[in-house]
Amino acid sequence: MTAWEANVRKVVPYVPGEQPKIDNIIKLNTNENPYGPSPRVKDIVMDMDKLKLYPDPAASALVDAIADYHGVTSDKVFVGVGSDDVLAMSFLTFFNSGKEILFPDITYSFYDVWADLYKIPYKAVPVDEDFRLNKEDYYVDNGGVIFPNPNAPTSIAEPLSFVEDIVKNNQDVVVIVDEAYVDFGGETALPLVDKYENLLVVRTFSKSRSMAGLRIGYAIGNPKLIKYLSDVKYSFNSYTMNMPSIIYGVESIKDEEYFRSTVSKVVETREWFKSEIEKLGFSCPPSSANFLFVTHNSIPAKELFAKAREAGIIVRYFNKPRIDNYLRVTVGTREEMEKFLDFLKTLC
Ligand SMILES: *Cc1c(COP(=O)(O)O)cnc(C)c1O
Repeated sequence: MTAWEANVRKVVPYVPGEQPKIDNIIKLNTNENPYGPSPRVKDIVMDMDKLKLYPDPAASALVDAIADYHGVTSDKVFVGVGSDDVLAMSFLTFFNSGKEILFPDITYSFYDVWADLYKIPYKAVPVDEDFRLNKEDYYVDNGGVIFPNPNAPTSIAEPLSFVEDIVKNNQDVVVIVDEAYVDFGGETALPLVDKYENLLVVRTFSKSRSMAGLRIGYAIGNPKLIKYLSDVKYSFNSYTMNMPSIIYGVESIKDEEYFRSTVSKVVETREWFKSEIEKLGFSCPPSSANFLFVTHNSIPAKELFAKAREAGIIVRYFNKPRIDNYLRVTVGTREEMEKFLDFLKTLC
């Protein structure tokens, strides 16, 4: 290794699910929502001449719309380029004690990547054999706690009392609850934000609002947390939120009816599909998300994944200990799931 290379910050990057460049595939691998953004977003005609200007660095229009929606003041809202950006900023801002931060061993696989990137020590706390978190495992001295609720890729949600117990027992550190999937059936921790100044709740427009391509995420927390986050963000890049994201994001959040109707379609399709595949020898934990975490009683997941791909259906397979016999299947439209079911019926 050359001298300069010895001083490179070396990271093993997060590997997102494939975005295939093939037409006519059924894409059930990255938990996108198949229904697309609200018609209010599609109807907007943006004045492209405005792009000559920098966007509002505070993204105030979007922050205010999100604050209104959740019934909180705007000083409790931070927005970022997808929740990945919000989470990365939060790691950088809050996890500086030098102590191990805690998150489940089976969880969103970006957490250990950010920890490594920022040289934050961490401990991956094993979930039990049913993939449940054990809250007492988090009642130890630590440098911070983060977990998704519902968890990914397991789809399992824990009740609000469970989340509160973890926050209550960790008031010396920041606790981040990643609610990327909460709209599909989880119980939100937002009511706890006024009670615990160390709680940060992170949300995204990518899943339930079907706007993954626009990259909008946000956090809600005590104004002090938000101020610290903003200070770091403004020290990194003032203009993270681009102008179209701010404009389209505001319209999306105003269309409650469309949001509700598409989320309930996903939930309905999920429950129907779950009951159908259970007849074929599949099992999966109860899902509170827009995906199912499935395993079959005889066909290995890896083989299922490969055969589905050959048939033009892409799901997510994690070649990792404990979950290498599971597939994470995003809930698509009813039509897509019917095609996938037909494929599974022939295979089984
Ligand atoms: C999808 C996802 C995110 C990231 O979503 P963005 O598109 O960056 O907003 C964060 N956390 C979990 C658990 C996710 O599944």
